[in-house]
Amino acid sequence: MKRIVVLGGGESGVGAAILAKKEGFDVFLSDFAEIKPQYKVLLDENRIVWEEKQHTENLIMNASEVIKSPGIPDKAPVIKQLHALNIPVISEIEFAGRYTTAKMICITGSNGKTTTTMLLYHILKNAGLNVGLAGNVGQSLALQVACTTCDYYVVELSSFQLDGMVEFKADIAILLNITPDHLDRYEYNFQNYIDSKFRIAQNQTEEDAFIFWENDPVIKAELKKRNIQSTIYPFAIERSEKTKAFIEQDEMIIKTLKTLFTMPTSELALQGIHNTYNSMAAGLAASIVNVRKESIRQSLQDFQGVEHRLEYVATVKNIRFINDSKATNVNSCWYALQSMKTLVVLILGGTDKGNDYSEIEELIQQKVKALVFLGIDNKALHSYFDGKVSTITDVQTMEDAVKEAYEMAVSGDTVLLSPCCASFDLFKNYEDRGIQFKSWVKKL
Ligand code: ADP
Repeated sequence: MKRIVVLGGGESGVGAAILAKKEGFDVFLSDFAEIKPQYKVLLDENRIVWEEKQHTENLIMNASEVIKSPGIPDKAPVIKQLHALNIPVISEIEFAGRYTTAKMICITGSNGKTTTTMLLYHILKNAGLNVGLAGNVGQSLALQVACTTCDYYVVELSSFQLDGMVEFKADIAILLNITPDHLDRYEYNFQNYIDSKFRIAQNQTEEDAFIFWENDPVIKAELKKRNIQSTIYPFAIERSEKTKAFIEQDEMIIKTLKTLFTMPTSELALQGIHNTYNSMAAGLAASIVNVRKESIRQSLQDFQGVEHRLEYVATVKNIRFINDSKATNVNSCWYALQSMKTLVVLILGGTDKGNDYSEIEELIQQKVKALVFLGIDNKALHSYFDGKVSTITDVQTMEDAVKEAYEMAVSGDTVLLSPCCASFDLFKNYEDRGIQFKSWVKKL
């Protein structure tokens, strides 16, 4: 009997193990850390053998195939050993994709994945389609394939998931943008990360759709090198010959062979240029699966937004507080600053992933009156910004960050948490950071 070993006992690993069991494989799950109680219950209920806080070599190296959680890097010793033994290592999405005939709409990019995934799911759900939400958000794809039958899945894919995908094919692929991120996992070679992102369009034929941002410099250069077979649906602010979604006279326009859709940009629920891109991408995908124009328009209008992404928190003494805790890289902070219409006190810092702050320097000069560095180690921030911004302060708790920012702001200003960095030095994760921010703002 084929033996499937699952490495990692989180959402994707447990889902993969349950699906593998259902498909009749001999299944073993191993996690080097502790497994959350709710997942242990699920594993036991499904009579899946598991271990935690260790990887027992002879129970793993006898696998026919290994499903690896996206959190485990290729340089982990267990993965190196599997590679040396030529045991295939795949991702949960690759595995789940084998057992469903549902149409796959897959979304990747350096920024905007979750927003676009949630927005598209909202459009398809409101249109009455039998659709599941999977990948980095919601339940794992594997668990849904094991337990439900959907006609469509909207799947958010990180580069780490894409790395373990070989034969999987997206019926509709969306590539939002590519800017440097996670380079620590890609041997500090940007091209490796680009290759990973382009796996979103792998195996596609002309019957499949490839939606991408036409003016992204990295995507543009890469497309010149590649021979993509898919039917392409580029989006951009300014229309070129091939553009299928664009802006003209403050209207968002989707123009394909089948559709002509228009909508004033002022009516889009998600504001800011970055969100216009996300709306164009989601609108294109929805029109490709034949959602009625009226329905797309309604959903683009009434979407509620996603927590921790440019989320409005409160206004205190006419100072607006915005939580953009999910801005864990410099590019997403750029879009946040770009969309600000007032002077800003910016809270940033955390675990620096080798950031290049030159990208936001100009916007900081234009809009930011003070910086609050929130992190254990703010050296990289000081060496870049000292002398460029007159008021800078260091804090090590969210309580102090909010209080200092409030002190520095005056009526009419915005206090923006858009950290450019990961959160793990002081917080459990970006959600914890955003929740703490909101709760201290509410206590002002
Ligand atoms: P991801 O899932 O790719 O991390 P999110 O939707 O969670 O993306 O958004 C992450 C951050 O990026 C937020 O700060 C958000 O405001 C910003 N953002 C959203 N869409 C885009 C986009 N298309 N381009 C650049 N930044 C974006």
